[in-house]
This record gives sequence, C-alpha cells and structure tokens, in this order.
Amino acid sequence: MKEEISKQLYEKNITVLIGGGRRHFIPTSEGGTRRDGRNLLNEFRDKKGYQVISTGKEFFNTKLRTPFFGALSHDQTPYEVDRNNTENPSLLFMVQKGLELLIESDKEKRGFFLLIEGSRIDHAMHNNDIASATHELLMFDKTYEYIHKFAEKDPDTLIISTSDHETGGMSILGGFNQNSLNMIKETSMSTEKLREMVNAGQDIRNLMRQHLKINPTDIEVNRIKNELNTPNYFKIMGEIIYQRNKIHFSTTSHSGDDVPLFSNMNVLNGMTDNTEVAKTIKNYLNLNF
Ligand SMILES: [Zn+2]
Repeated sequence: MKEEISKQLYEKNITVLIGGGRRHFIPTSEGGTRRDGRNLLNEFRDKKGYQVISTGKEFFNTKLRTPFFGALSHDQTPYEVDRNNTENPSLLFMVQKGLELLIESDKEKRGFFLLIEGSRIDHAMHNNDIASATHELLMFDKTYEYIHKFAEKDPDTLIISTSDHETGGMSILGGFNQNSLNMIKETSMSTEKLREMVNAGQDIRNLMRQHLKINPTDIEVNRIKNELNTPNYFKIMGEIIYQRNKIHFSTTSHSGDDVPLFSNMNVLNGMTDNTEVAKTIKNYLNLNF
C-alpha cells in the first residue's frame, strides 16, 4: 500500500513534498521496502529533475529549490517529544520551508494547494500516549497559527483544519488537575522511544522517572517487562499513566466519534459528512473533476 502511494507521489508531478517514510521509495536490495526494485529517490532526481534531500541536517543547511522532495526520515518522522532539534525539523519548519518554496514557484500567481498532516497525533493516540499526542498537537497548533497569519495577509486563502477520525476514545475523568497537566508538559519521551531504550538495555525505572515523571511500583515494572514487546505494551503504559493523570483511553484503535473542523471562512457549518470537505475545496478552487 505505502509502496503504491509513493509511486503515485512520483507520478503526480507535485511541486513540493516533505516528510518521512524514505524506505518506501527505496528497493529492498538497498535497505528499503520496495519489491518492484525501483529507487524512486533516484528517479525523482534523475528523471523528473527534483532536488532530493534525504536528511534533516541537509534540509537545514541547503538552499532549496522546486521541484523539491525532502524524504527526511528512513521510517516515520520522529515524535515531537523525541525530536532532536539539530537532526530533525519540526512540522512548523517543514511547513515554513514548503510554503516559501510554493510562493517562490508560483510566478504567475495562480495560487496553490498545500496539504499539511500532523500525522503522528494519530500514532500517539493509538499508543494511548497522551503526552506525546499533546506535544504533537501543540506543534500542529503553532503551525496552524503560522498558516493563519499567512492567510491574513493573503485573504483569498481558504484554510480547513480537521481530522479523518478520532483515535483512542479518550476522555478526561474526574480528578484531572494541574499536576496532570504538568506531567504532560514535563514528559520528554514517547512510550514508543522508551520501549526502544529498554530493549537497548536501559533501566526502565530510571527512564520512567526521568522522562515520564512516573515512579512506577514493582508490580507495574513487572507488568511492563512481561509485555514489553507484545501488542499489549501500549495499553498497559496507557493504564499506568491513567492512574496518575486520569486521562482515560477506551481503545488503541480509531473510534466513531465526530471530529471538529476549523476554518478561516464560513464554510461547512454544523453536522457535515466528511465527503463535503473535498467538494468545498473543489468548488473554492473552481476545479472540474
Ligand atoms: Zn490511525
């Protein structure tokens, strides 16, 4: 599926592409996941004339031009809470650079369409990891603010911000307070990264104290250790965190909850079917398809 999507991105002649998932563009023989033997990174560069950048460091230090493809992580873009500032750009930085490139390439002022995905919010919620999800959301919020300021100066710009579903069936139960909020604020590692570190030999108790602001009981440590590399790990971590901050998850999957939609224009009010989003954009841009 991801290999198919990568191929579509290659075929569509998109002006700017920035994100992670580099492995889906590279054949298995070169450490990637493509089974068709194609190296789409090379093809982007050699056949389509893209500037291709493969690391965050290069992205920070290179003069960029369009068409542009930044495949900045081998696998997923790191969680904001785990991100190394010198090696990986934030969502905001990627959007700033992407927008600059689009404006620069839009010589005839025909306008453009920019899709921004805060893609790891969903992953953190699948992991019932509220602190990681909150750090992702705060970065998404900063990015929204930046786009909003752009739209204020360019009033034809339509912004639509929404999600395709809720994840985790999250609820805040009685007892939530400033301490719960502080715990989220002070968390400096995702539970996914914590598992990686424990598997690499680090002490689980120290990691939890230092990075999750949790002092686990012996029973909790044993529970985690027993299920460390099973699908139950994230559910257990979510439950242990819930004991402290009263943020409850009812599933590690998607839920059927309705989701909000924000816009800078008076579009799509009230209860709306998600298919209306595409139709609204299509009408706004006067597209025929
Ligand atoms: Zn999901």
